[in-house]
Amino acid sequence: MYMRIAKRMVLLLCVALSAALNVTAQDAVPAHMTWVQPMERVLQPAHLSAGMAVDLDTPASYLYPEWSNQYVHNFNDANLPDSVIISMKGYFMPTDSTRITDKFGYRPRRARAHLGIDIKVKIGDTIRAAFDGKVRISRYERRGYGHYLVIRHPNGLETVYGHLSKKLVGENEIVHAGDPIGLGGNTGRSTGSHLHFETRILGQAINPALMFDFPHQTAVTDYYVYSKNTREVYYKVRSGDTLSRIAIKNETTVANICKLNGISRNAIIKVGQTLRVN
Ligand SMILES: [Zn+2]
Repeated sequence: MYMRIAKRMVLLLCVALSAALNVTAQDAVPAHMTWVQPMERVLQPAHLSAGMAVDLDTPASYLYPEWSNQYVHNFNDANLPDSVIISMKGYFMPTDSTRITDKFGYRPRRARAHLGIDIKVKIGDTIRAAFDGKVRISRYERRGYGHYLVIRHPNGLETVYGHLSKKLVGENEIVHAGDPIGLGGNTGRSTGSHLHFETRILGQAINPALMFDFPHQTAVTDYYVYSKNTREVYYKVRSGDTLSRIAIKNETTVANICKLNGISRNAIIKVGQTLRVN
């Protein structure tokens, strides 16, 4: 049993590694290929291996086609490999607070997705960069994130830090893991001071709790394997949409959408509402 799981893991990692290294050739690993190297060797992506210079000027350029200061998430799904290995090497906890006040995920009651986790911080508490990287966005959004930062990291992740009282770094600035980047706050759409923390890959939000264990102030894993097939997918309702049209657009079924959102087939959906579609 264990061997079977291990074999499947290794195969998955081979595919993920080839995808991570060569986005355009996802069929590069032949189906008959067997991999006998220890898992640690397989897991170490070449661009992060010891002795190899990590380019902080263009972090994770193997994944991201461009560097732009414009949007938090405006990426083409087509660039997303089936799996990506994300190394937690060199991580730093963004806050020393251990109190999670809101989890990641979809809330049927509020008909919206919470694409990060909330950690209780006091106004003025130091917020630190989770990894080495380059600040892509340093901005203020009155109705949303408040003062917020987006940092791109060489491991492929982008981290988002919201509701800050103050930003300490500017766009295109290079930061190192643990550097103070902002102060905790209560700006934007926020009730009570907290850090809203997101982890994304090519715009796709991943539950940060799968990588960062705030209560225990440690990383959950050495390597997190992101898989396109197991991610949560959300859709914003547009004018003229019906549940069946949304199902077709997202290659799913009305029944699945109803189940994921805790709604009935006859539920009234509103323009701008977020639905989980996978
Ligand atoms: Zn939040």
